[in-house]
Amino acid sequence: MKIAACVASALVAAAVSAGAVSFTEDDAKIAYETADAFVRECTPRHSGTLRARLAAEWLLDRASRCGADASIDSFRDKTPCGERLFSNVVMEFKGTRTNAAWIVVMSHFDTPATAKQPCAGANDGASTSGLLVALAGAIRRSGPHPDNIALVWTDGEECCRAYGPDDGFHGSRRLVANYRKLGRRVKTALCLDMLGDKDLAVVVPSNSTPVLKKLALKAAEKAGLKGLLKVDESIVVSDDHSAFLSAGCPAINFIDFSYGPGNSWWHTPDDTMANVSQESLCKSGRLVAAFLNAICYN
Ligand SMILES: [Zn+2]
Repeated sequence: MKIAACVASALVAAAVSAGAVSFTEDDAKIAYETADAFVRECTPRHSGTLRARLAAEWLLDRASRCGADASIDSFRDKTPCGERLFSNVVMEFKGTRTNAAWIVVMSHFDTPATAKQPCAGANDGASTSGLLVALAGAIRRSGPHPDNIALVWTDGEECCRAYGPDDGFHGSRRLVANYRKLGRRVKTALCLDMLGDKDLAVVVPSNSTPVLKKLALKAAEKAGLKGLLKVDESIVVSDDHSAFLSAGCPAINFIDFSYGPGNSWWHTPDDTMANVSQESLCKSGRLVAAFLNAICYN
């Protein structure tokens, strides 16, 4: 029953225009297996540690297997715990349009140093990082698009003490600063977080750009996933899209912040692959692919 729902949406995805991104069952398998291997081989991966740097290199290797170029942007930034070294993994697909704008899709990969007990970050960090690896293959397969597309595995999303101007979201703030320096125009910044939850319910918080909220709802419907995504105007979520909003760029957050009863698995030892499912990653992938198509071909 659950798998059938995903196959049905595959047929919908196949019906979209040529050149559009489609996310298949095989992509979902890649997303899940990548997340699983990432958790096994790269946990913990707290920002500023050697293990975080190795995790970035691990993702670079996995992402590069799709045949597109990726690189690591290393940078130092101040934190309340001292200056630290961060590593964003960046993959870029050049658009066909003259002076093409940028669509940026992000997933953080670091684990929370603030968790009271060890947390593998299977859903929170690894699931969407695996999803981004699978999306890299799907985008590459679909050929060139009118807009530039950047996939970014961000470091330092988690804070070292408490979220504040210099604690947390280091990778996305670095990204915005780089884009400003390069004079890049951002068409959309999309932040993916906790989208592997086996009991998936995707929320777009109020602090997302209104026109993108409408496009996200339409994309979910087009992908045969009506009801999976809801816009919740009663909540505000600070996440990697926030830096783009602050810079005046259109930005949106897809997040499932209801992980376990009362979100009780978040930042705990319960955040394991046992609570992440391939089926959820399949739905998330289809949703993101449909959203990208809506943005690119709108
Ligand atoms: Zn987290």
